[in-house]
Amino acid sequence: MKVVAYSIKNFEKEFLARANQKKHDITLISNPLSLKTVMYAEGKDAVVVFTNDDVSAPVVHKLADMGIKYIATRSVGTDHIDKQAAGERGIKLANVPVYSPQAIAEHTVAMAFALNRQLILANKHANNFDFKLDGLLGFNFSGKTVGIIGLGHIGLATAAIFKGLGCRLIGYDVAFPANAPGITQASLNELLQQSDIVSLHAPLLPSTKYLINKNSISLMKDGVMLLNTSRGGLVNTADTLAALKMGKIGYLGIDVYENEKGLFFEDHSSDNVKDPLLAELIAQPNVLVTPHQAFLTHEALQQITEQTIRNLDLWQQDKCVGNSCACAVSCRI
Ligand code: NAD
Repeated sequence: MKVVAYSIKNFEKEFLARANQKKHDITLISNPLSLKTVMYAEGKDAVVVFTNDDVSAPVVHKLADMGIKYIATRSVGTDHIDKQAAGERGIKLANVPVYSPQAIAEHTVAMAFALNRQLILANKHANNFDFKLDGLLGFNFSGKTVGIIGLGHIGLATAAIFKGLGCRLIGYDVAFPANAPGITQASLNELLQQSDIVSLHAPLLPSTKYLINKNSISLMKDGVMLLNTSRGGLVNTADTLAALKMGKIGYLGIDVYENEKGLFFEDHSSDNVKDPLLAELIAQPNVLVTPHQAFLTHEALQQITEQTIRNLDLWQQDKCVGNSCACAVSCRI
């Protein structure tokens, strides 16, 4: 199959090559898919994308006009793809429904540790040979209540780690899982009211857009720690910034940001004008921002690339029939 893969960074090239074994003819493009770069899909059968690629309706229609039949995203989340436009044009879609949930769960808990124990500040001081303890006071996770919103693969993996730290676990999910060991089911409001730490693991959907806003924040405990490794759009950043300034939110750890498209995954350090909202957020104490890197482990990259190649294989063998596909591994979009 002739394929163009967008947003390919150096770190994933070897994983993709190993998974592909030269089966598919894949052109690697470092830039994201957009109306400006869509022409690289000319003459291809399939397009491979990532979370910050523009797979909106105008781009999907251009791809369809060029004869693209398949779009495979190297992600769990599919909120960047206009599924309706793809369906209308007969383009089949596939994602990587599950890969190493531990990668994202471990990063979430790493952020919690770094925030709680002021590891970034301590290291910054140590770099100046300043070994004072001022400003480094933390708390024990043991005994604290952690509220997990979205108890799918990643939410459950995150809960298991916090459980191991001796935390009390409560969870909210529109489809609370039958098997959620040690997690007490709560309503969204109960979770927000009781949690010392709130961790977001739901997909970005119309129903989860700005789930965290000034009203939901007002229900939270004073000094709460908020963690978001799901999608930026779940959090109203302006409301969160205001709550941080008032001390209502005590700690914020985000691996995703609502306006990250065109910003994350690239070096913008020499830009004259920087995203003002994010710049102000980063300037607050007790805020930790990472560049959508929670997935970035060897294990996860291997699984992502292997599943992506398997999706292409299945399409090539005409085994996948889109949304009504019977195969167990792909076409879950
Ligand atoms: P999943 O599908 O296994 O679980 C999602 C859970 O959210 C499901 O149990 C679902 O019922 C629940 N949910 C849906 N709507 C909800 C709502 N309105 N309120 C509460 N819960 C709701 O997905 P997953 O593998 O656990 O991934 C979760 C999200 O994490 C993905 O959608 C993706 O956006 C994000 N993600 C981020 C990274 C990263 O690198 N930061 C990597 C992978 C995934």
